[in-house]
Amino acid sequence: MGDAFRVTATPGLVPALQSGPTHDRPIFDGTKLNVLDDLCVGCSYCLMACNDDALIVEGLCEVIHDNCTDCLRCLLWCPTGALVYS
Ligand code: SF4
Ligand code: SF4
Repeated sequence: MGDAFRVTATPGLVPALQSGPTHDRPIFDGTKLNVLDDLCVGCSYCLMACNDDALIVEGLCEVIHDNCTDCLRCLLWCPTGALVYS
């Protein structure tokens, strides 16, 4: 589904998906979703994927940790791997 969306949305402009539904899962208690600012391109794909109002994209993405349910949908949709658990 990610490949189909990427080709339809912005052909040739979005890099290959580097994250996925099982990648970057929290491994240890205390880890939380964070944004790697150097990788975020502000595309808002994560925002569209989140059903819990847990993200804001104003230039770069920010996580509202109180709202995040760790569903990992945003990780699936981020085209640059900017969302990680750390
Ligand atoms: S893990 Fe789920 S709830 Fe948390 S920011 Fe990502 S999509 Fe939203
Ligand atoms: S975190 Fe990923 S999906 Fe969200 S705005 Fe940044 S690059 Fe786009």
